[in-house]
Order: sequence, then C-alpha cells, then structure tokens
Amino acid sequence: PYTGPLADEILKKRKQFLGPSNFYFYDKPLNIVEGKMQYLFDEDGRRYLDAFAGIVCISCGHCHPEVVDTIVKQTKLLQHTTTIYLHHAVTELAEALAAKMPGNLKVVFFVNSGTEANELATMMARLYTGNHDMISVRNGYHGNSANTMGLTSQSKWKFNIVQSGVHHAVNPNPYRGVFGSDGPQYAKDVQDIIEFGTTGRVAGFIAETIQGVGGAVELAPGYLPAVYDSVRKAGGVCISDEVQTGFGRMGSHYWGFETQGVIPDIVTMAKGIGNGLPLGAVVTTPEIAQVLTQRSHCVTFGGNPVCTAGGHAVLKVLDKEKRQEHCAVVGAHLINRLKELQDKYEIIGDVRGRGLMVGVELVTDRTSKTPAREETSLAFERMKDLGVLVGKGGMYGNVFRIKPPMCFTKEDSDFLVDVMDYSLSKL
Ligand code: PMP
Repeated sequence: PYTGPLADEILKKRKQFLGPSNFYFYDKPLNIVEGKMQYLFDEDGRRYLDAFAGIVCISCGHCHPEVVDTIVKQTKLLQHTTTIYLHHAVTELAEALAAKMPGNLKVVFFVNSGTEANELATMMARLYTGNHDMISVRNGYHGNSANTMGLTSQSKWKFNIVQSGVHHAVNPNPYRGVFGSDGPQYAKDVQDIIEFGTTGRVAGFIAETIQGVGGAVELAPGYLPAVYDSVRKAGGVCISDEVQTGFGRMGSHYWGFETQGVIPDIVTMAKGIGNGLPLGAVVTTPEIAQVLTQRSHCVTFGGNPVCTAGGHAVLKVLDKEKRQEHCAVVGAHLINRLKELQDKYEIIGDVRGRGLMVGVELVTDRTSKTPAREETSLAFERMKDLGVLVGKGGMYGNVFRIKPPMCFTKEDSDFLVDVMDYSLSKL
C-alpha cells in the first residue's frame, strides 16, 4: 500500500510552491500514485478506469512492461550524450518513424514536446518558403510558446503577447459549422485568407485532423485536400499536427491525415510516441529538412538515448499488439454504445470521433446547441466518483473527451457508457 504524502498535503504544497496557473481536475483533486495499462490507482488503492490517458499521452498503456524494461535498461547503460555522438537508438527510431510515413516524408528531427515540434515545423515552413504568414484552423491547439500560441485558436489558451503572422480559418466543424459536413465549402475560407489577408504567398498551413483540446472535433471530409491545394498554389507547405491523432489511435489509419487522403509536407508528433516520456518529433522531406543547414541547429535532449529507445519500444509494442486494429474495433463499439445513449438523453447533442478519439458534446437544447457547461461538470465529477476518468474540454467546456490508452477494451467501453448513463440520469 501507498505510504507517501496524501492529497491534502500535496495540494497545500502545490499552492505554496507551484505557479498559481497550475489547474487540476475535480473539486477534490486525485492523488494518483500508480498506473497499470488502462487503470490508475489513488492513494487509497482505489482503481479508476483511465479514459483520458494523461491527455492522450499513454498509447500502449500505463507502465507497459516492455516499454518500461527498455527505458530501465537504457537508463542504466547510458542516459544522455546529445547527438554530437552516435547512438543507435536515435537512428533506429528515426528509421522506424520514416517507415510509417507515406511519400517522401523520410527525415526526422527529435524534440521534447508537441509545442517544440510545432515551433520547429513552423520555422522550417517559413525558411523553406521565404514567406511568413501561417494559416491555422479556429478551435485548434498547437502549443503554448509565443509562436505556437499564435497558431492555437482558442481565447482560453492565448496570452496577450506578440503572435505575428497567423490567420485563423473558419473551423470545418460538422456539428456546429455553417456548412455542416461540406469540407470543400469551408476550405474556401483558406483561399479567401490567402487572397485578402496575405500578399498571396504563405509559409504554410497547420491543422489537427481531429481537434483534441478543441473537443474531439473532426475536420469535415474533403477539407484538407482542398486546403492543401490552395496553400501549395500560394507557395506554402502543409503541416499535419499528429500530436493526439497519430500512432493508430484513429483505428482506420495510422495517422490522422490519412483519413482525409492527403500527404503533408511536414508532420509533427509528441504525446503517444513516448507513452509518457517527454518526446516529440518532426518528420519532413529531405528538401525541406535542408533549410536547417543554413545555420546551426541542435536540441540538447532531442534524440536522447532513453527517450528514443523508449519511443522505439512504443512503436514496436503498438505493432505487435495490433493496437490500430484494436482501436478500430473497440472505438466502433464505444461510439455505437454512446449513440444509443444519445437516443436516451436529449442533453447529448453530438457523439463523434474515430477509433479511440471520441467526443460527447452536451447541450441544453439540441436546436440552439447551447453548451451544457454546468451539467458537463456535474456528470464529469460523478463519473470520477464511480471510477471512470474522462477528459473535459472544447471551447465551451461541454465536451467529454474520451481518449484512453489504446489497450482499452470493449468491456471497459461498456463500463464507461454505463457510468455515463447513470451520471446523466442523476442530473
Ligand atoms: N498539438 C496538439 C494537437 C496538442 O494537443 C498539444 C498538447 N495538448 C500540443 C500540440 C502541444 O504539446 P505539448 O503540451 O507537449 O507542448
């Protein structure tokens, strides 16, 4: 049993020593002391079904034994040197990632986070094209550095600092958007931005294929092909932010962009690639990668042996355990069951997603689609009390975000839906 400090004491210290911006989930925050695959355990040994995976970071499962073994072995042997020396783990993970990519996406840069990956991708887009203007999609999230905060398009996550040269296109949100599921209609806004808001030349475009922080909003079908076409004609490069959508979570495909049938020029990733390790990557073409040779470029911990060995173990485990296929099967079951729940509760305005990246949006009225913010919070708390942890998000805080570790089963889905059913019945 756990014998360490308890929640009250930790919370007190957090308030004293951590920045006041640190927020936590739940009125009475959980002290999580152990994780095993899709389960988390608190200080009392109480088990929770984890359907949020530490904000979609846990891909294989909490403390997956093969990943942990690899990390421990590498840590005991050699932790860090930087890429000024050779190490096989770095090149092996790069080779494995390149093998997962279509087209000419064959060159890999390692960084430490999603923010850093998008920072680097944007810089390469600007250097490669000689243009400055970037276009991102409203309701997207791409990081919290000054530049990536510029790409991010939710007021909640933006501070009043210089974030120059970013235009935010109309969100092709099939549930709330004016054009419904007509992706090419929304894409016209990107063309308008290019024509009216820039010199006619742009550095690039970035989007998630399912907006994660934005509340599991999938881009309307046909959107990316049309947008990529406009952006490339304007001299820009296309970036796919796969920080949440990558590594088979979509079920139908390994990468989110594949669901729209496009091949980006730059792909960024983080979170799931490390199953909890701080690891991010940018994959691009040899031509674009070449721009960074104009000056010196090095990320101290980018491509350290521990994280890259761990990342490689993650890729191998996901393949060996056939997690992509698993996400397709379990995700379809979960979404079906949630749709049944939608028939039962007026408050469920939308059930959406792909594979194990699912959103449930609560509204007080299905016609006006008024966000049911308070009800979402109440049900969210009750689900925790009943042993199920989901995420909460979206622009209005009225979406349950369900993105569990990819080992999540059909039985777990049934339990989650039953718990959501009961929690909604008590509103
Ligand atoms: N892109 C996406 C799609 C994300 O969801 C996030 C994090 N929520 C980021 C980028 C930034 O990643 P990080 O927090 O690792 O900097």
